[in-house]
Amino acid sequence: MPVKSKLQAYKDVSVKQWNDWTWQLDNRLSTVDDIVRVLNPSRNIIEGMEAVAKNFKLSITPYYASLIDMQSAYCPIKSQAIPTFEEGDSQENDFTDPLEEDRDSPVPGLTHRYPDRVLLLVTDVCSMYCRHCTRRRMVGQEDRTFNPRQFQQAVDYIAAHEEVRDIVISGGDPLMLSDRKLEKILRALRAIPHVEIIRLGTRLPVVLPQRITPSLIKMLRQFHPIYISTHFNHSKEITPESSKACTMLADGGFPISNQTVLLRGVNDCPHVIKELNQKLLTIRVRPYYLFQCDLSRGISHFRTSLGRGIQIIESLRGHTSGLAVPTFVVDLPGGGGKVPVMPNYCLSSSDDKTVLRNFEGAITVYQEPHSWESVCGHDEACSNEKNKAKAGPAMLMSNPRMVLEPHKRQLGRRIVKK
Ligand code: SF4
Repeated sequence: MPVKSKLQAYKDVSVKQWNDWTWQLDNRLSTVDDIVRVLNPSRNIIEGMEAVAKNFKLSITPYYASLIDMQSAYCPIKSQAIPTFEEGDSQENDFTDPLEEDRDSPVPGLTHRYPDRVLLLVTDVCSMYCRHCTRRRMVGQEDRTFNPRQFQQAVDYIAAHEEVRDIVISGGDPLMLSDRKLEKILRALRAIPHVEIIRLGTRLPVVLPQRITPSLIKMLRQFHPIYISTHFNHSKEITPESSKACTMLADGGFPISNQTVLLRGVNDCPHVIKELNQKLLTIRVRPYYLFQCDLSRGISHFRTSLGRGIQIIESLRGHTSGLAVPTFVVDLPGGGGKVPVMPNYCLSSSDDKTVLRNFEGAITVYQEPHSWESVCGHDEACSNEKNKAKAGPAMLMSNPRMVLEPHKRQLGRRIVKK
């Protein structure tokens, strides 16, 4: 039986082929000619794609291409998938590696920035190359896939660092690896006693939902607790196929959270984000982060002001359930990490009163307790060295030190390499 697609190019494709993720991969649109043949874009779009294709990879799965409305100037799927001339623009403050992930990399493919967690990049390959990708310096540039020698170095590093309890596996897209390779990776990481949780960062439930197969779920279930971080940017990406993929993951016991990037012309609107987040909850995906677009070279046309993100959170908090309100964060250029940014709800404060405002603008006083005895120092958790803050204001609050000076490494980051 042929698949139902509005695209003429797929009229002879069977439902079985369409639902097979390997068919989707083998038939990716990865050249300008492929995109012209399937989507019939205008001359101007073709010229833009030709200009970009010289420097950055193209790839769109047939499934994701079938969601594109080529006639619409505001199609959010088109904007994320089809390159434009603007990718050649470079602003004064754009960087190749704005988050300095390479600098915090003790061994290739591993970033250790935060005290108790690491980022492990296991492949450079994605099924689709998102036009707003912040890792465009590496993703898709050479299509390097899993490197066992490099992976062993990362495993040895993690095993030697007992403070690492949480591993984020990303790439590229880790679900681009075969079940067999992924199983090898997960088995090696699970063998490290101090690794408590593993997170898989993947966009495949959105752009290649066919990849979520019963055999993948069965394999992953051996290594619980595993969390899935995915990347929906618009409610148009919530289709029967992506909903089914998320349902399979949720039924497999994998909590799913979503990281949306705030993108000009795609979702930079309170109504669009509200609809996205509410719909995500219906497919058991929890909105987790709303990211300010990074300062990566070639994506400045997607950037909005920080104020727009704050406005979006203002329009969500109190106006819809808290589960639909993500944390708006800026990943600081220079490797400073994620900083939450939000409207100000605390208006003023004294020893005994704090003045707060709610989403409707009502201003209320919260009467502070006069005194209380804290559990702090009496609970077993308080004597565990692992739980003590080792940096920042949190450390100052429980430490005789009075002054916090940036570490030399942080000072160096003020001069960021372009
Ligand atoms: S899936 Fe993620 S890593 Fe891959 S191109 Fe898209 S944003 Fe970049």
